[in-house]
Amino acid sequence: MDAIAIDGLTKEFGAVTAVDNLSFSVEQGELFGLLGPNGAGKSTLINMLVTLLQPSEGAARINGHDITEEQGKVRDSLGIVFQEPAVDEELTGAENLAFHARLYGKRKTERDERIPEVLELVDLVDEADMPVKNYSGGMQRRLEIGRGLMHEPEVLFLDEPTSGLDARTRRDTWEYIQRLNEEVGMTIVITTHFMDEADFLCERVAIMDQGTVVAVDSPENLTASLGGDIVTLSLGGTPKELFDRLDDQPWVREYTVTDTDVAITLENGDTRVADLVRLADEVGVVITSVDLHTPSLEDVFLSLTGSTMAEREATTTDEESSERDPSNGERTSDDHFEAAEVTE
Ligand code: ADP
Ligand code: MG
Repeated sequence: MDAIAIDGLTKEFGAVTAVDNLSFSVEQGELFGLLGPNGAGKSTLINMLVTLLQPSEGAARINGHDITEEQGKVRDSLGIVFQEPAVDEELTGAENLAFHARLYGKRKTERDERIPEVLELVDLVDEADMPVKNYSGGMQRRLEIGRGLMHEPEVLFLDEPTSGLDARTRRDTWEYIQRLNEEVGMTIVITTHFMDEADFLCERVAIMDQGTVVAVDSPENLTASLGGDIVTLSLGGTPKELFDRLDDQPWVREYTVTDTDVAITLENGDTRVADLVRLADEVGVVITSVDLHTPSLEDVFLSLTGSTMAEREATTTDEESSERDPSNGERTSDDHFEAAEVTE
């Protein structure tokens, strides 16, 4: 049985289709990533899977339980860590975990057993009795993750687990996530808009853009599918004469034009840079910089969507400011989740 099976899942907010007819599955024990720019629909998808948002259409199962028909079972089998902090700063780490466990209806004996286990898992044994306001950013994030683990979920969702953390703390957090996946064998789904995070952590990645999944595969397969090397030329414009010349070259596999750059996929890029400079020179185009690299997930995104992630974020931010309806009650805090849980 798949840990997660998604079938035609759709979420509309008025005129905005945040998640558009998605279908894919996540295997038991996988460390799976949803990668896409801000506004791609990652949080909306996760919020439907954890039963915080009602789908407009389609269905999904978590550990075989239907997300609309069996919400209680779905919630018992998953943990969620939101991007927004959801721990109480005035309480200690251990008190936060106890509070969370009470909300989940765990008895005192169970709590007393589970709390030390979780503190061990997230490496906060020594800091257990310290108020959370004295924790570092990385420690707080680990406590958030620990909170999501209190009721021994089979699937853990982490929404943007490292945003707002410094580079060093991000690395450490990656290691904790990897350890949980490997040592505890937990299925983990993360969302991220960081290419390097998806690349480093995830066994498979679903690349999301504007509510759809444009590709699902391992980072290795996704980047290998582009083949060859990428040469990016900064041009200060989009000169058609140069693109016409690129069209004529048998060694140019494909190219994608953005604002002022052209990203060219070709074999043996290092031997072709001189040819590219010559071509530009012949048509009188000035190249302001040249970059040669092996394909990254960013290149995969560009090749599949025709835009860079940054360009996508710029356009969705414009749309968001005009179209987001605050009365729709976006839920970013896990309090709603717990409130729903306790009243059940
Ligand atoms: P991501 O997590 O990938 O950044 P989201 O799922 O937050 O993306 O958003 C996807 C799209 O849905 C965006 O266009 C966003 O503005 C829109 N959206 C999300 N939540 C709401 C809401 N409660 N009301 C209206 N629009 C929303
Ligand atoms: Mg989000």
